[in-house]
Amino acid sequence: MKKTTKEILLALFLGIVCPGLLFWTVDKIRPIPESRADDTTAFVSAQQEVTEISVKLENAVEQMELEAYLVGVVLQEMPASFEEEALKAQAVVARTYTLKRLEAGGKHEEADICTNSSCCQGYCSPEDYLTEEGKQDELDKVMNAVFNTAGQVLIYDGELIEATYFSCSGGQTEDAKAVWGSEIPYLQSIESPGEENATHYVDTVKFTLEEFTESLDITPVGEPKFWIGETTYTQGGGVDTMYICGVEYKGTTLRQKLGLRSTAFAVSIVGSTVTITTKGYGHRVGMSQYGAEAMAVLGKLYTEILSHYYQNTQLVAYDGN
Ligand SMILES: [Zn+2]
Repeated sequence: MKKTTKEILLALFLGIVCPGLLFWTVDKIRPIPESRADDTTAFVSAQQEVTEISVKLENAVEQMELEAYLVGVVLQEMPASFEEEALKAQAVVARTYTLKRLEAGGKHEEADICTNSSCCQGYCSPEDYLTEEGKQDELDKVMNAVFNTAGQVLIYDGELIEATYFSCSGGQTEDAKAVWGSEIPYLQSIESPGEENATHYVDTVKFTLEEFTESLDITPVGEPKFWIGETTYTQGGGVDTMYICGVEYKGTTLRQKLGLRSTAFAVSIVGSTVTITTKGYGHRVGMSQYGAEAMAVLGKLYTEILSHYYQNTQLVAYDGN
């Protein structure tokens, strides 16, 4: 069943939650003028086909309409209490991330994308959101963010970007090379001020000496206070490499082995306690969600948020190819 854009928006404003009936379409890739970037009807054509994706849920694979799926992603991935412009930035980023997976033939054998946030993107259906004490006005706010950016994606050099995002940077994002080893021009380390209110802006975890050495599978050498040796840092303030008991580790390896919130950490060993203080939460590459919120609070538009975190990219209407 096809619906016109006006019908979609009417359904949206009536608060109807019926993903099967809602769809969006766009005609061709073209830059979105800043002044009209908010005006969905300016570039959405009603004549085209709905984009469907297969989503791997916990116990099933479901076919979903892209924009309806994105409502569920934004509901799960960003607090609905965030500013509208931050939610819109999140919607564009989640859409770009999803279509990139789709263009690559799907991330999973049985589905294009899954709902595990550490693998693909989290997802919460509107029905579940309301059942789990979410409020209708929050749902409406998220739906508005998705539909007011319908079809909009980020490209670089004519291709969809790798739109990675994370919770909180701790003040400075990381470049892609530092975390994944390959240089990506639009994923560079950049300042991300105003995140101090984020839940995990700074965190501290403590280990016993045994827990620490067992997690790293190393043999203790000498006095604990001398275990930590030379440390190098990335552009984004993360640990690049660190010597522990004479063994060199990558910061990313230490984060994984010790279950740290980020690679931006400092280790202190006093007596029989290892204290690790982390800044930020996540891989810290791409858009910081708390940073996006901080920009939105200052009155920045979602277009400005996106061009800050993904430098030299363009916001365009997706052409569906
Ligand atoms: Zn996945």
